[in-house]
Amino acid sequence: MIVQSETERVDGLVDQLLADHPPAGSDPVVFLGEQFDRGLAWVHFQEGDGGLGLSPSLHQRITNRLIEAGAPSAAARNVIGYGMVAPTIATHGTDRQRKRYLRPMFTGQEVWCQLFSEPGAGSDVAGLATRAERDGDEWLVNGQKVWTTVAHLAARGLLLARTNPDLPKHQGITCFLIDMHGPGVDVRPLYQITGEAEFNEVFFTDAKVADADRLGGVGEGWRVGLTTLMNERVSIGGTVSRRGQGPIDLAVDVWKERWADDPSPYASALRDRLMRLWVSSETTRLTNQRAADLRQKGTPGPEGSVAKLAFAEQNKLITELAVDLLGAEGMLHSNDYPRVRPKGVGLAGADVHKQFLRTRANSIEGGTSEVMRNILGERVLGLPGDVRTDKELPWKDVPRS
Ligand SMILES: Cc1cc2nc3c(=O)[nH]c(=O)nc-3n(C[C@H](O)[C@H](O)[C@H](O)COP(=O)(O)OP(=O)(O)OC[C@H]3O[C@@H](n4cnc5c(N)ncnc54)[C@H](O)[C@@H]3O)c2cc1C
Repeated sequence: MIVQSETERVDGLVDQLLADHPPAGSDPVVFLGEQFDRGLAWVHFQEGDGGLGLSPSLHQRITNRLIEAGAPSAAARNVIGYGMVAPTIATHGTDRQRKRYLRPMFTGQEVWCQLFSEPGAGSDVAGLATRAERDGDEWLVNGQKVWTTVAHLAARGLLLARTNPDLPKHQGITCFLIDMHGPGVDVRPLYQITGEAEFNEVFFTDAKVADADRLGGVGEGWRVGLTTLMNERVSIGGTVSRRGQGPIDLAVDVWKERWADDPSPYASALRDRLMRLWVSSETTRLTNQRAADLRQKGTPGPEGSVAKLAFAEQNKLITELAVDLLGAEGMLHSNDYPRVRPKGVGLAGADVHKQFLRTRANSIEGGTSEVMRNILGERVLGLPGDVRTDKELPWKDVPRS
């Protein structure tokens, strides 16, 4: 529950920030640095870490007010760092790690990536094979990660690696904060159907990471990584936009442009489809708002998986409808999107076809819809768990392809 005086306090601080640094004339790094120093970056983090130790439900209020005022967006500048790595470091980091990494992460001076998935470990990320072996005060990392969003822009990566293959898979993992520009780190683009290489393969060959950059205890990587994954789901699916905004806006625009004046029964059937999706988008938005208002702790629970599932499935339906609303033109697909390594993540300004193609990935990235349904079934509905035959076996004895 938010105490009224807390709301007034942060409103006052936001007013002051905007008065001292009018967004239109401010350098984004300076503005975001001021936002961090005044505890308005992640208001629920402790003082000195970009927060004021207040309720996480105030975070959205601050973000909305600043966006409306035209302030730069820390999330847009560093999507993985802002939404996923920051809460992980705030929860598990040492004093040095929090002081060293959170501020430049928020200002976007240091972009971060998430090095979890591997060719043989996606949904079952605890099966990962990348090794980290202790070498004095350092660790040597060898292995391969894949689908690493913005690795080509990243200064640092949040890495899960296997440090003890003799233990069962969840117990032998450790988390590290690795320098992406160090020797032995090779980032190669993976181009998507949209032409954009948002993500990459990352190869480690004797890459070094200092023990001081180990996040959490040796063998505690699974617990640390879970903080990231829980925040990832909310970061992808639980953001509360304004009513009617987001992908549904795209479909409404195409409908207005092409069908609003058409009195035919077909146009009416399309409008019914649009309205059903508008209502389900609004229901999801309000559910996310309620979850954000009720959140007492920084790390979200299984409601994040519900939000992520709804987000992914709705986006796919909405962009499918948008293509249908184009009529015969919807069937024409220009196959010549230029191959680029983008400067960030996002679909602002993309055409309907491109948005349709990109949203196919929504039900894979951040955990597939099948896996979200498993979490929903087990942790919300209390249904019997998924079959797990390798949970107790030493990782080295688990058959792998
Ligand atoms: C656009 C995009 C960006 C990404 N960015 C990152 C990133 O920055 N960092 C990172 O580490 N990873 C990233 N990923 C990887 C993503 O997390 C994985 O793709 C995802 O977890 C699925 O893993 P997989 O691709 O290995 O598929 P698999 O795990 O092999 O799954 C294949 C199929 O089997 C199904 N399946 C698997 N297990 C179960 C089960 N227990 N019950 C029911 N069905 C199951 C899946 O739902 C899927 O349909 C990204 C992926 C995409 C598409």
